[in-house]
Amino acid sequence: MEKTLIYQEILKYVKEGVYFVDIDRKITFWNNHAEQITGFTAAEVLDKYCYDNILNHVDDKGTHLCRQGCPLHKTLGDGKPREATVYLHHKQGHRVPVLIRTYPLYDRDQLIGAIELFSDEKPPTLLMREIEDLKVLAMTDQLTGLANRRHTESILSSKLTELEEFNTPFGVALVDIDHFKAVNDTYGHDVGDLAIQMTVKSLVNAVRSSDLVGRWGGEEFLVVFSTVGFKQLQQIVERIRMLVESSAVQREGSGIQVTVSIGAVFIEKAASKEHIIQMADQLMYQSKIEGRNRITLATLD
Ligand code: GH3
Ligand code: MG
Ligand code: MG
Repeated sequence: MEKTLIYQEILKYVKEGVYFVDIDRKITFWNNHAEQITGFTAAEVLDKYCYDNILNHVDDKGTHLCRQGCPLHKTLGDGKPREATVYLHHKQGHRVPVLIRTYPLYDRDQLIGAIELFSDEKPPTLLMREIEDLKVLAMTDQLTGLANRRHTESILSSKLTELEEFNTPFGVALVDIDHFKAVNDTYGHDVGDLAIQMTVKSLVNAVRSSDLVGRWGGEEFLVVFSTVGFKQLQQIVERIRMLVESSAVQREGSGIQVTVSIGAVFIEKAASKEHIIQMADQLMYQSKIEGRNRITLATLD
């Protein structure tokens, strides 16, 4: 058997889609795995031109690569290999993400065509994106888009480490909506959800961009303030109270308002997370019993 035919016979069975085009972009070889990935048999594609738009690659922005930016075409133009993540067209009509690699084919010094290898294992770029999405999802509370409790706790831990290493005082505040059961009972759970979302927006707008607001529980939020002094902490916490008090969800002509009670701790020496939370909770409770819609601050003892 001629040497090139032996190579082609081997390539038929590799676990990647493989096809060749000649210098005019006519498809001259199509292996078994290319059939599996695309649904097109060798008989259907051989002797067709790549620009006949059989595979009709698009990139992740929907650009039709046959018309502009086809990696195989570029490789034919300059003899350089390329790699790209594209979505090819399956015979049944749907799109399949593949990682493609293109290489020039030379006969001695003469460029005679190009080879494209494509793999339907999830391309690394897509996998990375999925992992990133999952990470964000795992850290986020669905209703509010805030950091969830676990993520908030880990931020608190990192602030404690920072304090130990760099002596940077920080603050923590526990914010609880007042008489929230009554909001649900009067207007229904959906309006209750809207009131939570409104409170969160005002809360986030009251703090600095370096501060983290997390959803601690149902209608309770924990704010972790980066490097802060006592006075400044007091100002920001008061701004939270005031901005929430002056917010309203518009509902059939009337505005639904809520207030919050806040307990805030100023932390300037090493402590456990549990101790900080416990103290913030006690201070918040004090705000509740003193009449709600108020703030209570103390330095961590
Ligand atoms: P207090 O001033 O003492 O905090 O009174 P409260 O009515 O807010 O009392 P409490 O904190 O015990 O009640 C919280 C209520 O919040 C109970 C629960 O049904 C409601 N809640 C918790 N999570 C959600 C939520 O995601 N959506 C809605 N709509 N309600 C929630
Ligand atoms: Mg409450
Ligand atoms: Mg509560």
